[in-house]
Amino acid sequence: MAHELFSHCLQSANARGLNQAPPLTGYNLFLSDKTLVNAVAREGADWANAQLSDLGRLLGTEEVQRWGFDSNENEPVLYTHDRYGNRRDEVVFHPSWHNLMRTSVEHRLHSLPWVEKKKGAHVARAALMMMTAQNEAGHTCPISMTFSGMAALRVEPELVREWEPKMLSSMYDPRFRPAQEKSGVLMGMGMTEKQGGSDVRANTTQAEPVGRSREYLITGHKWFCSAPMCDAFLILAQAPKGLSCFFLPRWTPTGERNHFHIQRLKKKMGNRSNASSEVEFAGAWARLVGEEGRGVNTIIEMVHHTRLDCAIAGAALMRQGLVQAVHHARYRRAFGKLLIDQPLMRNVLADLTIESEAATLFMARLASSFDARESEPRERAFSRIATAIGKYWLCKRACIQVGEALECLGGNGFVEESIMPRLYREAPLNSIWEGSGNVICLDILRALAKEPASLDALIAEIRLAAGADPRLNAFMAEVESSLVKGRNGSDSEGQARRLAEKLALVLQASLLVRHGSPAVAEAFCVSRLSGDYGYTFGTLPAGVDIDTILSTQLDS
Ligand SMILES: Cc1cc2nc3c(=O)[nH]c(=O)nc-3n(C[C@H](O)[C@H](O)[C@H](O)COP(=O)(O)OP(=O)(O)OC[C@H]3O[C@@H](n4cnc5c(N)ncnc54)[C@H](O)[C@@H]3O)c2cc1C
Repeated sequence: MAHELFSHCLQSANARGLNQAPPLTGYNLFLSDKTLVNAVAREGADWANAQLSDLGRLLGTEEVQRWGFDSNENEPVLYTHDRYGNRRDEVVFHPSWHNLMRTSVEHRLHSLPWVEKKKGAHVARAALMMMTAQNEAGHTCPISMTFSGMAALRVEPELVREWEPKMLSSMYDPRFRPAQEKSGVLMGMGMTEKQGGSDVRANTTQAEPVGRSREYLITGHKWFCSAPMCDAFLILAQAPKGLSCFFLPRWTPTGERNHFHIQRLKKKMGNRSNASSEVEFAGAWARLVGEEGRGVNTIIEMVHHTRLDCAIAGAALMRQGLVQAVHHARYRRAFGKLLIDQPLMRNVLADLTIESEAATLFMARLASSFDARESEPRERAFSRIATAIGKYWLCKRACIQVGEALECLGGNGFVEESIMPRLYREAPLNSIWEGSGNVICLDILRALAKEPASLDALIAEIRLAAGADPRLNAFMAEVESSLVKGRNGSDSEGQARRLAEKLALVLQASLLVRHGSPAVAEAFCVSRLSGDYGYTFGTLPAGVDIDTILSTQLDS
């Protein structure tokens, strides 16, 4: 009898999921993120609040969360040939991928600042992107490349006239048809070749001019080409005057399939909903973009914008990691108490919160510099260096912050049914593409050496917080002296990561002291700046106001 009773209790405990957190669903990703809501208002983008709240609510629904899981569990499939042996070069996606793409295109994540020429448009888009990447990051790749590609295409008025209306369209049209027949188009990028991704000057793909003005035939390969079903690509190839940038559509202007052959899809660690391919160009038709021989200078405008999106994605992954960890801790009991009431867990969660809030402020400030960079030289200079710092730092921090957040869920965090493994696998990707960690740090050195206005703008920004906190003042002095040493030192390259870290920390501290919650700003300065801190999250020193820091998460 006792045995039967025990067995009955066990069955009902199993059936009820005893001591398990309910799924985190039915919440608004915008309204529940006070740091984001405040940043949007501060940077003048609150005209977009209705749209932000609409998308935030949608992304929190069970149905849209399901799209994220389904599109990753049902990976895209490549068809190189049709049944008669003709080349097909098509990738077929699960319907959930198209649902995600449609939602993002309809919310204009690929185009908002180019359409809505209002103050704060980049910030509004960054906030939309930050929420979307929390739900499903893979599909934001073609969204980001379309947004960024537009920035680089501006130098070619004829191409803009032809392509811009469809690139800016909020109609998602996934049909593999010539652009002329479509209501909306998307754009990708091909720079990386087998022999080198960072060092694009080693590209071997050849571009041969073909009589008519600015038209070329491209022959060669790309080792990574994501979202190959995009309608057109900005690629790099060697022309007679050197490495140049080209616009290469999947269909030629006469409506024939271009010689763009997808060899295979990469089997990836993460980012599985998205197709990343190897492609071969067999005399593919393309148009020159910018000056022949100045390809890197031309495509860098696209890269600058995709780097912004990497920084946004880093902040997004950290926010989602935090939200999931706090949610779990509010429901899960161990040793007679909820995890959220266990002092050591509170230290970990508070520390994750600090990192996430600092990242959100950084990405919003970065996005606001994109709003102003056309009209204000100082903002342009700030954007130049801060984008590299943000891309480096937020992507790096996401790798470890998300890992720690995953552990807060214990074994459940390691299981695919939670979103945590997906966040964890996505995190390093943002650090690799669009310039891997070292390459970005070297880019920071390049900006400091060749564009002194970027350093002046950065220092001016940091100094806006001068006098607000003694630890920040001391750190600022140290950073300024390392900048001088870096300029004169013999091993500036070898020390570039140390410098990038310091620049990131001082910029984040300056933003937090001015705009963050006071308890978070204080905890950031005491831990990250004054060194009273360990090597892992959850090592905040005694005296940090953990209750206040966590209350911002628990109110939401
Ligand atoms: C999923 C995925 C999708 C991608 N999609 C695209 C795409 O659509 N289009 C595209 O063009 N590319 C794409 N890439 C490629 C990506 O941009 C490259 O992998 C990246 O730029 C690094 O190039 P690489 O792989 O050749 O590594 P390498 O350039 O060989 O670099 C290897 C390592 O060496 C470091 N390194 C390089 N130079 C230096 C130096 N001077 N000093 C110190 N360290 C250095 C790098 O930081 C890196 O850690 C994608 C990559 C991935 C993983």
